[in-house]
Amino acid sequence: MSATILDGKAFAATIRDQVATHVARLKADHNITPGLAVVLVGEDPASQVYVRSKGKQTVEVGMASFEHKRDADISEADLLALVQSLNDDPAVHGILVQLPLPKHLNEDLIINSIDPAKDVDGFHISNVGLLGTGQKSMVPCTPLGCLMLLRDHFGSLSGKDAVVIGRSNIVGKPMAQLLLGDSCTVTIAHSRTKDLPDVVRRADIVVAAVGRPEMVPGDWIKPGAVVIDVGINRIDAPEKGEGKTRLVGDVDFRSAVEVAGAITPVPGGVGPMTIACLLANTVTACSRANGLEEPEGLTA
Ligand code: NAD
Repeated sequence: MSATILDGKAFAATIRDQVATHVARLKADHNITPGLAVVLVGEDPASQVYVRSKGKQTVEVGMASFEHKRDADISEADLLALVQSLNDDPAVHGILVQLPLPKHLNEDLIINSIDPAKDVDGFHISNVGLLGTGQKSMVPCTPLGCLMLLRDHFGSLSGKDAVVIGRSNIVGKPMAQLLLGDSCTVTIAHSRTKDLPDVVRRADIVVAAVGRPEMVPGDWIKPGAVVIDVGINRIDAPEKGEGKTRLVGDVDFRSAVEVAGAITPVPGGVGPMTIACLLANTVTACSRANGLEEPEGLTA
């Protein structure tokens, strides 16, 4: 048996289309242009690539993009002042501070200084609490993208056994909350979990968010289970030539695809969904801020 491939690239394109339609309506009917501000501190090459891509896609769906680049040695007070100015700016509906920040900056302090209504990454402690208590919140983009893929595949997730491997604040924990919200029976596995293969074998849904290349082999997967591979790992690829690399997930795709019912590839699975969900969160934040109807199907 070979699994259905869950095409995150194609799905992300349909989400961007939905966002663009809603943005056009906000402009035409209410003269409002949703705006996303991205703050980038320092020169981290991966962060620069992400921020460029976010800015490009923001403009492509018709929203305003505001980029604020600051030197790596910016003081905490100056960064807090920048966030405050964005909180106060009515043209900005979403604020994203690109992580990681340089070591001298307190990440929690900076994230919790963002107006929760503009916190399109969903990392503010208020949004974490709202999600945990099943209330309307801003939902972290990567788990939201995973949830959308799962809902699209299954329709209802009610009663499914789900195992999330990884307990980070960015992916694992909010993913588990979202699955619980959709009435799954959820297990969170992590580096201290005993008998991980057996735990994973029980699952109808496996979400792998670990950061270890191809850690989950096909023989851990229950036949027919749906596998969402969040991991993005760069490994050597001597077969492509000297010094070449390639991206792989946390799941060994080659063996898992033979057992699973459906699986996300890496690249082209969860990755593209993350930025699409950031755009979705921004248009949702803008609609809420203006007391207008939220776009359907773009929130949890
Ligand atoms: P993290 O390092 O913060 O957390 C990793 C988690 O994995 C930890 O909770 C840890 O307990 C668990 N873990 C570590 N070793 C384990 C083991 N041997 N067995 C079981 N659990 C183990 O990472 P993160 O930020 O959650 O990211 C996880 C992966 O997802 C990374 O590869 C990252 O690049 C990727 N990621 C992708 C996207 C995307 O857009 N697709 C977004 C965020 C993160």
